[in-house]
Amino acid sequence: MSNKVRVRFAPSPTGMLHLGGLRTALYDYVFAAHNQGNFILRIEDTDRTRFVEGAFENLVGTLEDMGLFYDEGPGKGGPYAPYIQSERLDKYKQVADQLVEQGDAYPCFCSKERLDEIRAVQQQNKEPIKYDGFCRNMSKEEAQKRIEAGEPYVIRLKMPVEGSYNFSDLIRGDVSIEASQIDDQVIIKSDGFPTYHLAAIVDDHLMEISHVLRGEEWLSSTPKHIQIYKAMGWEQPIWVHLPLILNTDKSKLSKRHGDFSVGAFMKKGFLKEALINFVALLGWHPSEDKEIFSLQEMIEDFSFEKVNKAGAVFDMTKLEWMNGMYMRSIPLEELTQRAREWFEEAGIDPGTDEKLARALDTARDYATLMPELVEHSKIYYERPVFEDEQIEILRSDASKTVCRYIIEQLSTKTDWTKDDVGEMVKQGMKALELKGKQYYPPIRLSLIGRTQGPDIPRIVYSLGIEETIERFTKAMEL
Ligand code: GLU
Repeated sequence: MSNKVRVRFAPSPTGMLHLGGLRTALYDYVFAAHNQGNFILRIEDTDRTRFVEGAFENLVGTLEDMGLFYDEGPGKGGPYAPYIQSERLDKYKQVADQLVEQGDAYPCFCSKERLDEIRAVQQQNKEPIKYDGFCRNMSKEEAQKRIEAGEPYVIRLKMPVEGSYNFSDLIRGDVSIEASQIDDQVIIKSDGFPTYHLAAIVDDHLMEISHVLRGEEWLSSTPKHIQIYKAMGWEQPIWVHLPLILNTDKSKLSKRHGDFSVGAFMKKGFLKEALINFVALLGWHPSEDKEIFSLQEMIEDFSFEKVNKAGAVFDMTKLEWMNGMYMRSIPLEELTQRAREWFEEAGIDPGTDEKLARALDTARDYATLMPELVEHSKIYYERPVFEDEQIEILRSDASKTVCRYIIEQLSTKTDWTKDDVGEMVKQGMKALELKGKQYYPPIRLSLIGRTQGPDIPRIVYSLGIEETIERFTKAMEL
């Protein structure tokens, strides 16, 4: 094997890409980028019963949306194409045949009923659930005869019954698993398709994968995979099992706890930058105690030494906080472009980029999610509708004096800055010899229909001078 870092993200198209998958893909991507290696996308679609319509398109599309571009994979090609397992079936069959030929795997004819029975007994006796080896020592001749007679069969890997598998994992260190705990895994199913355990290993070998990054749930299967490497005389990759993702109550995060697909989070109005930043921290610790960093900074700093083996807790409050941080820090022009669709969806015409940007400049300080931008921008798009007691306030002489004063001042020039507005408003109170209680309510009411909200100069900036004057005029006319 060459020394080049080659990692693969190998999702099954059995559902939409979820945050756990996004984390694996992200670690693959940054690890490859950090080491000038290759990031490969491989689709593991050999389980035909679990295939979900649209999942493939979702996986590929979401990686692209998130900016995790792969070097080799479906649609992109590469020296080890095809990258979709259902198009590589001959390769798995070849290996399975060789394993059987060598005596490292065997055909098994046990019926589902028989297997169910063994399982029931094992369950009752509180024994580990595994195949009892009934077909393990069948002669090749008998097996051949039964295959020719058309009996359905699977192919199982012949695991040693004694000894242990000792291997090293970049995150977990030395791992040891007793061989006796390991099942004679089915590697070819009765429909002729390989299982994950064969297909992934064959492909990782053929595609010269240097590091296998996958979820911790695969750790206990690693001996089966090592067994295939040994039987085939292949060099093992470096194993990297990523920590589980847990709920705040430390239970394993799963669909039962909600929809954790990336798409669902995007639909709620999370930004891709926040999602990436957040999943990065599900296990990994940057060398400086930073919480907010860009993909580029992560690439520079990333290593598995700084990935914890303990389960990583999914903290929704933190994700929301992080999203708010990104809403405030991404360039305003960029936010303006991304916000448009949310306004349109809410039935509000966002107007020109200039108008929208001004509204967002203030609104983003109050929003955590994209739809809240719309909520907090409404005051700049919809004129206030007053209630009776507000009308009473605005009809008072003091209010009219305030509004008239502000209109006069604002009309003296067009190039108002927020500071200028702030200064002018402050001077106004002195000039009119009014108390704050008399002075500020009419201003805020005229502008936004309530007495609480962003600072007056910010409101004026977000509305624009023309609309500001218009609103004071309307209030005076009440
Ligand atoms: N197809 C496997 C899954 O979706 C991939 C595991 C691996 O990365 O090896 O869980």
